Amino acid sequence: MLPKQHLAYGTLVALLLFFLVPQVGVLEAAVFLFFTFFIDVDHYFVYVIRNGDLSLTKALKYFDGMRKKYALNKVSNIKTPTLIFHIWEFLILILVLSFFFPILIFGFFGLVFHVFLDFIDMRRMGVLTHRDYFYITRVIRRKFFARADKKYTYI
Ligand SMILES: [Zn+2]
Repeated sequence: MLPKQHLAYGTLVALLLFFLVPQVGVLEAAVFLFFTFFIDVDHYFVYVIRNGDLSLTKALKYFDGMRKKYALNKVSNIKTPTLIFHIWEFLILILVLSFFFPILIFGFFGLVFHVFLDFIDMRRMGVLTHRDYFYITRVIRRKFFARADKKYTYI
């Protein structure tokens, strides 16, 4: 899903939480929104590492190009780059950290909300298999299931 859509949906839900849930104040709603939106910075990291370039505009074009080429055209057998903030290992890390820093539970909810929206968007486009949701699945497939891994093109 595009960042502007995440910002719109994230803002809407943050406002709903703020007005409807008594335990949610400005800080909690802000943490939720921050994690919902800034999770996508991992796309930017991938662009910077691959291209040695810091341009945010070019990074957006780069991923928009990928989306048009592979997702909107429903090209199958593709694996997208590993997005370190989208994998469940990272979400679980934030959940564990929330036991020590309770405010992070709203960050965890923000991450889950983001990943859920991405999931719906990818399902709509018919490309759910493009992403490895757990990094460990990618490692296991590449290491122990070479034949299954060969059918994928890592973009
Ligand atoms: Zn995303």
